[in-house]
Amino acid sequence: MKYCIKTFGCQQNVADSERISAAFNARGMTPTESYEDANYVIINTCMIRQKAEDRVYGLVRNLAEIKKRKLKHNELFKIIVTGCMVGVAFRDKTGAYFDKIRTLMPDVDEFMPIEEVGFDNEPVRKDRKHAWVPISNGCNNFCTFCIVPFTRGREISRPYTDIISECQRLRDEGYTSVMLLGQNVNSYGADLIVGESNIQVMRDIDKTYFQNTQKEIREYEVNGKVVKPVYVKHLGRQRIPTLFPALLADVARMGFTLVDFISSNPWDFSEELIQVIAQNQNISRTIHLPVQSGDSNVLKRMNRWYTAEEYIALTDRLKQQVPGIRFTTDIIVGFCGETEAEFENTVALCKRVGFLKAYIAMYSQRPMTAATKVFPDDVPHAEKKRRWQVLEDLINTPNLSNAAYKFHYSRPHA
Ligand code: SF4
Repeated sequence: MKYCIKTFGCQQNVADSERISAAFNARGMTPTESYEDANYVIINTCMIRQKAEDRVYGLVRNLAEIKKRKLKHNELFKIIVTGCMVGVAFRDKTGAYFDKIRTLMPDVDEFMPIEEVGFDNEPVRKDRKHAWVPISNGCNNFCTFCIVPFTRGREISRPYTDIISECQRLRDEGYTSVMLLGQNVNSYGADLIVGESNIQVMRDIDKTYFQNTQKEIREYEVNGKVVKPVYVKHLGRQRIPTLFPALLADVARMGFTLVDFISSNPWDFSEELIQVIAQNQNISRTIHLPVQSGDSNVLKRMNRWYTAEEYIALTDRLKQQVPGIRFTTDIIVGFCGETEAEFENTVALCKRVGFLKAYIAMYSQRPMTAATKVFPDDVPHAEKKRRWQVLEDLINTPNLSNAAYKFHYSRPHA
């Protein structure tokens, strides 16, 4: 029996597909690159834009033709859909999205939640030098434009010791670089410390964190480590504790040539994390730090928990403490109600920070998100395109010489 995996979307999906591959190998199947050759086709889907979803519908229509031909010859051919579309289908309590995808893809044999693919088998990696290591899945932030909390659910961290063991194995096998992956790596471990259900209620689980002085902060012990709430200086307040600085330091000390991480959110970027980066030369000096907008009012509408000034303060602190640091980012243009003046603030922030590269997206509505429910998508398409071009010309065109940089892959959304 042979299987073929088609992966859409970000690097987190690529890493998930490596685990899917491991699970099919464990069942005694062999991989193939050809749909015609396969008995099982697994489609790992993405929903970040409508276009990504449409490509899945198109692929299933093509596979349905192969299925028809194969069934005529009594050959087994099953289409399995997993990933973000199935995540939404299982989380949408109304059942409407499941009905929609079943209707649009009647030839699919199974809709498989990605959670069914565990971490029991070692991922099948094609690259022998560089490895992706998922450290968490899901997101609790609910940025109003983003579907990820609905596709992947709430943030769940992998056990600390599992990640350490996986990285040690990779190092022993001769891997020279690792990329720690999560929608929001900086908040890794918050659920391990204060409890998953508490984190899911709200990040500000104990409001006193915000009133405490640093001396009065409570400490938590997890896996033998004492962890405090992180102090985020550019925000001027305490945040929920996370284990990411400790994890990053432990992985960096293993001796890899390069340790990278993606994606990183500005509001959980603690002083402790800055210190860990500064002290370990093998941690990447190019940090992906999604800003999304350079205007504080737009950020508020997006439910991003920082202002443009706080973002700039963070990049300034990193520049001071980590010589040679560069930033890449994500930006959405034409978000609901974005005025020309608000867009110009984004242009100004980009000039100020001097990004190496940017993923620039024109805003598009996504099902279930707050922005779709609450705000009109009122910036005309032509204007979105113009704004996109302005930033593209400002950031990406002059940096074409940097094209070899890691943007050849896409990052988990943050
Ligand atoms: S944009 Fe990033 S941080 Fe915000 S909800 Fe989506 S995945 Fe979470």
